Amino acid sequence: MTLEDARALDATDPLAARRDDFLLPEGVIYLDGNSLGALPKATPAALADVATRQWGDRLIRSWNEGWIDAPQRIGAKIAPLIGAAADSVIIGDTTSSHLFKALVAALRSNPARHTVLSEAGNFPTDLHIAEGAVGCVPGARLKVVAREDLATALDDDTAVLLLTHVHYKTSDRFDMAAWTARAHAAGALMLWDLSHSVGAVPIDLTAANADLAVGCTYKYLNGGPGAPAFLYVAKRWQDSLASPLSGWMGHAAPFAFEDAYRPAPGMKRWLAGTPAMLSTAALETALDLWADIDQHAVATKSARLFDILAAAGDALGLDCVSPRDPARRGSHISFRHPQAYALTQALIARGVIGDFRDPDILRLGLTPLYLSHEDVWRAGDILRETLESEAWRDPAFAERLAVT
Ligand SMILES: *Cc1c(COP(=O)(O)O)cnc(C)c1O
Repeated sequence: MTLEDARALDATDPLAARRDDFLLPEGVIYLDGNSLGALPKATPAALADVATRQWGDRLIRSWNEGWIDAPQRIGAKIAPLIGAAADSVIIGDTTSSHLFKALVAALRSNPARHTVLSEAGNFPTDLHIAEGAVGCVPGARLKVVAREDLATALDDDTAVLLLTHVHYKTSDRFDMAAWTARAHAAGALMLWDLSHSVGAVPIDLTAANADLAVGCTYKYLNGGPGAPAFLYVAKRWQDSLASPLSGWMGHAAPFAFEDAYRPAPGMKRWLAGTPAMLSTAALETALDLWADIDQHAVATKSARLFDILAAAGDALGLDCVSPRDPARRGSHISFRHPQAYALTQALIARGVIGDFRDPDILRLGLTPLYLSHEDVWRAGDILRETLESEAWRDPAFAERLAVT
């Protein structure tokens, strides 16, 4: 792959114009959109409108002018990205808190079963929250096994199988339909964490017959730092599962001010407290960019961007830990390197922003909406220069920051 080849791919790229929807700093090749998505051009004005007009001028009237229904309205905008019915998704809270609610609800719905099964090395919050959730349900326990042992660990005590669709380190992707079918064959519910796959790979929860899903909106969906997360509950479970965080916004009639809790019908029962409207507005603006984007065009471009960096890594003798088969991975590429932290910092100093995942992974996110093939080719060339010059040996690059 030469620079000319990359430019030729850009010339026929159906997503090329989307780059113009984002504000990115000069001199930066941003390969960390899988951790914090870039800023959409429309977001600063949307935030200013919420602050000055909706809050400043309309004041409390804004709750009846679009705020109170925002969690469901925005959930419906996420639904097509995950193959869900519009009324089976809601936004709010964080991925962590949705995981907690979904796990406790699932455990309580089937007291004959006690185990939450998950994968060793899953994203930390998934395992930490599962540990907390089983602690809240008498008799429940968490079983964490290696990926190759998951199928045999599924048994007649498994209440929920909790898996992250695309692995945050390696980019490995589970076959959603096959694993959901396995969970169901064992009599368990299937809960997917889509944080590293939504906006990166095509997802069809309905076709897979999934029960529950959660996911992040500040990664590939560009909702902004700490943007509200989403929760999906299959229609067939919406009446029988109940949130353990039984707050007033999930009540059937919050403004009846009743003493006793009565869960709202549908997805609204998963709300607990008042929605955070500033971050909710930023998320809605970012989602509007996805309205006319073809998920398959995103996947095709992601695969090409991956190939460019995979070829650069191969030429440098780097150990790529991500699957070569695009159907088996997400939209980031990870290389193992003994000095991955210093290498990541040296790349950032050269304008190529990726990240480091402990202990030895250099992770580079490939976001098809705002990266060109040329950007990614240039990033590969800067990676080559950084390795060949051994610039990463500068002691300044070894100093650990709080967020890696
Ligand atoms: C990013 C990520 C999260 C983030 O959870 P928060 O509650 O938003 O901090 C959760 N799970 C996975 C798999 C992630 O990649």
